[in-house]
Amino acid sequence: MDRSGLINQELKDVQKTLLSKVEGCEIIGCHQNLVSIKITKTPHRVLTVCIQFPQNYPDDILLVEFKSKVMSPALVNHIGQICDNELKKRVGDKQVMILLKFVRKFLDDNPLLPCRDELTKVKKELLEEDIDIMKMKQKQGTISIAVCKENYRLKFTVSVPDEYPTKSIEMTMNENNFPAVMAYYFISQAREFARQAVEPPLKKNPKAPPFQPSPHVFKVMKFLISCGKRYPVENCPLCGKQTLPNNPSEVVSDMKGDNYAERIYCGHLFHHGCLDKYMKTPPFEDGKKCPNCKQRIYHDKWNISPRLAEARWAHKEARQRELDEVVDFLS
Ligand SMILES: [Zn+2]
Ligand SMILES: [Zn+2]
Repeated sequence: MDRSGLINQELKDVQKTLLSKVEGCEIIGCHQNLVSIKITKTPHRVLTVCIQFPQNYPDDILLVEFKSKVMSPALVNHIGQICDNELKKRVGDKQVMILLKFVRKFLDDNPLLPCRDELTKVKKELLEEDIDIMKMKQKQGTISIAVCKENYRLKFTVSVPDEYPTKSIEMTMNENNFPAVMAYYFISQAREFARQAVEPPLKKNPKAPPFQPSPHVFKVMKFLISCGKRYPVENCPLCGKQTLPNNPSEVVSDMKGDNYAERIYCGHLFHHGCLDKYMKTPPFEDGKKCPNCKQRIYHDKWNISPRLAEARWAHKEARQRELDEVVDFLS
């Protein structure tokens, strides 16, 4: 049979059996000069495969071009290379069905595809080579990250659902030696970022465009990694000394201890003793502000109005004067 006859025969087979042999296929075109098939695994793992037959087919590999509205050009390019390599092993065979099955399997086996570009960026921009570790389990759709700074470490796992980014990622803290309250804050805040990416805000802004779930792997990982990197070396904005001890086993757990680490709303980390003194010393007008970023300090432990703080301070001062007088009188 000549080339044209062979191709015709192959295309007839494809039309007859494709839908039963490869899940999620839609035949857009199937002619000698162009075969075009759309393959869908999930709304975020969709590829259109455009195939042309080279002059020397089947002794040369198919000319394949991929199109996708949901995957980045870099990713589509990457898939193209993998497919070319696969086809090179199958020169001489009927390649169309082989290719389509291979693409489908690739979409099945790689749940991390929709966040591949984000993960590349995390590795390139956020992790320190030879210090931090990123492990991907493609089949399970999970990524584990371990970051270190000084003697502190933080290890977490992110799992990416099939429906990402329509559905949010989930994360668990595996291991860390930060104060428990801080670790709890890291993970809760990370979950909050993930939730906000997929759920419309309760208070709708009428001028805002309709809500769309957005990719959030990078944002969440950036937050967790930066917590692990910043807090071990962050200085107390009031005394200028490092807030956490160099040795994590010396972390103060007494919430009223002078060196207990207090994280406030703006994210800055204070010694409890320094902050307590600052919050109880005038001026109180306009509320107390973080010396580093000038944001108003909100904290449950010092949740009182400027007027009350003023009154308490005045009372304490008066009491001290009384005591001083007593001492004077007695000495
Ligand atoms: Zn301090
Ligand atoms: Zn601040």
